[in-house]
Amino acid sequence: MTVHIFNTPEVQDFLRLASGLDQSGGNPRTKKIVHRILSDLFKTIDDLEITADEYWAGVAYLNRLGASSEAGLLSPGLGFDRFLDMRMDADDVAAGVENGTPRTIEGPLYVSGAPVAEGYARLDDGSDKEGQTLIMHGTVRGTDGKPLPGAQVEVWHANTKGFYSHFDPTGEQKPFNMRRTIIADAEGRYKFQSIVPKGYGCPPNGPTQGLLNELGRHGNRPAHIHFFVTADGHRKLTTQINIDGDPLVFDDFAYATREGLVPPLVERTDAASIKAEGLSAPFAEIVFDISLSTLVNGVDNQIVERPRLAA
Ligand code: FE
Repeated sequence: MTVHIFNTPEVQDFLRLASGLDQSGGNPRTKKIVHRILSDLFKTIDDLEITADEYWAGVAYLNRLGASSEAGLLSPGLGFDRFLDMRMDADDVAAGVENGTPRTIEGPLYVSGAPVAEGYARLDDGSDKEGQTLIMHGTVRGTDGKPLPGAQVEVWHANTKGFYSHFDPTGEQKPFNMRRTIIADAEGRYKFQSIVPKGYGCPPNGPTQGLLNELGRHGNRPAHIHFFVTADGHRKLTTQINIDGDPLVFDDFAYATREGLVPPLVERTDAASIKAEGLSAPFAEIVFDISLSTLVNGVDNQIVERPRLAA
């Protein structure tokens, strides 16, 4: 087919009709968005001469994507999550807002309601025997450099199989394993013991990996640890650190790696360091200080509300 009908009055009228723009009811914002997306897709079909077979393969793909609950995985894979962050960064630059620690994507695997600890927490339950012991700590500060006692550090990460508690297909992990909320101490410090996580990939036979295969892309993430950090008078920081030395550290299918988010991992093998942590074997140490940005005109102008699992 080589006809192009997108710009005809019939098609343009039809797009307005299908988007409800001739109806008084409904939601004007939804109508505006749907009209734009429908228009862009109709134009794509017209311009690229998308065949009916290709179109229906796409519809079947969306059904598979939803049935497997992978929309939240395809989203970072296609760069949408990173793009939203780029827009927030640009918005901050335009508004002259100073950011400390860089933001990066949340991912789809946060669970609210993790146990709360003061100053220090043990994240893992000791059952993941493959994991190297990790001690991670740092200070939460405001943009003025002053520590923020009482700051809330929510942390979550995968085990050495690359699975998260509450989303572990093996069923091996107890609820909230490797998930905690740590309240920073009087000097703004947080600290935890856990295991060094491993990276993970998209389910190999799922629709996300299927599309990535078509794009000639891999679907793997370097090992990383997620954080939400909040404090009175400051904007919530959503970020991750990558495990230094992971071969994919700057080749993340979800585009979450950023300068400033790959703190050094130091192997501590000397007896004094091991004893000081109350451990009996060498461990890995990561120091990561966190700098929050202040509220803008008294509000968190970039808070993101999205459906999240609560347990
Ligand atoms: Fe993750």
